[in-house]
Amino acid sequence: MSNETAEALEVWIDQDLCTGDGICVQYAPEVFELDIDGLAYVKGEDDELRQAAGATVPVPVALLRDVVDSAKECPGDCIHVRRAADRVEVYGPDAE
Ligand code: SF4
Repeated sequence: MSNETAEALEVWIDQDLCTGDGICVQYAPEVFELDIDGLAYVKGEDDELRQAAGATVPVPVALLRDVVDSAKECPGDCIHVRRAADRVEVYGPDAE
């Protein structure tokens, strides 16, 4: 586990609901990217998009605020931030 993920959160996008507006990419281009299909995907530290359904990447602590803001502003309500340990969603449409 990297020291950059103290809370060990991870994020994934439900592409079925993504509108492709790119708001998440504006907030956190290190973590989100629009692919040529016009949909947003999460991106790892290796700069590679994770395109499998439900694929996650760790949320770097330094980018947590930007990722949370993305989830709040996402018009598709399709950005999910969860604890890695128990997969409980902490920010996003399924958060309590
Ligand atoms: S903000 Fe949400 S709807 Fe917009 S591109 Fe990102 S994931 Fe898709």
